[in-house]
Amino acid sequence: MIRKCLAVALLLCAVAMLCTGCVTQKVFAQVLPTLENEPLVTLRPKDTPVVTASPTATPSPSATPTPTAIPTESPEPSVTPVNTELSAEELASLLDGKIFEGDVPKNGLHCYLTFDDGPSKNTEAILKILSEKGVVATFFVVGDNAAKYPDKIRAIAAQGSCVANHTQSHKTDEIYKSADALLADLNAGKETLNSILGADYPTELMRFPYGSTNKRCRDYREAVANAGYRYFDWNALNGDAEHGANKRSANDLYKQLKETVKAQYDKGNDVIVLMHDTNSKGTTVEMLGDAIDYIASLGYEFATLADKPMN
Ligand SMILES: [Zn+2]
Repeated sequence: MIRKCLAVALLLCAVAMLCTGCVTQKVFAQVLPTLENEPLVTLRPKDTPVVTASPTATPSPSATPTPTAIPTESPEPSVTPVNTELSAEELASLLDGKIFEGDVPKNGLHCYLTFDDGPSKNTEAILKILSEKGVVATFFVVGDNAAKYPDKIRAIAAQGSCVANHTQSHKTDEIYKSADALLADLNAGKETLNSILGADYPTELMRFPYGSTNKRCRDYREAVANAGYRYFDWNALNGDAEHGANKRSANDLYKQLKETVKAQYDKGNDVIVLMHDTNSKGTTVEMLGDAIDYIASLGYEFATLADKPMN
């Protein structure tokens, strides 16, 4: 009986042990998954500090304003090295759209701007531009116009530009009839200028209407020189008095001036630029500022023909 009881007890114990084993296994099985997940969870905090540390640590100054500022700021440093490869002139042109303004190395040559046939309603506008650019010019004025507008003649001289003789009447049919006719008209023009500017004002500078190479007057060059005049033609022009000039835009005139000045520059010549100061030449006023900038960009120094040395 006792043996039977022991056997039963042993059986019960065995069953009980089996049952608790199942339970503990079940318990471990429930815990383990959570333990396996935990490292994943704890790894994340380890990772996140690394991620958050890098923005704050490495580029912290750039990283904090990143959301708004950096997108616009950071591309610039990568662009500027490209700009440094540009020439000084190109950089200057990027800065203000104008090349060479100011400190242009001089080329040792002179530019003589000349305005024929004035004065006119445009004289003051021309003088204003010359003053703004800090340059001077030579005005070959017609005596009859000068007598009508003496204040404009005085304004030319006051600006530092030169008043010169372009005959009294500019009536080529009359003045090119003979050397005497031409000299008489020139002397009348000289008297007009001296009456306005004073007897001491030098008035030996002159320009033949239509130039000294005009076939009607080329035989008179010697007579004019013998009478004590210095005459000047031109080797560049804006074309403001050429055929159809009234239909040409300021830009057309500017283009022609650039071409003709550049041709002389390439030969190493001084330039004498022909333009006109008459009521109908508003386009010359329009292009004058750009023309001066262009000529200055080549390194020319501006002067009046009164300052031009005798050849
Ligand atoms: Zn003329």
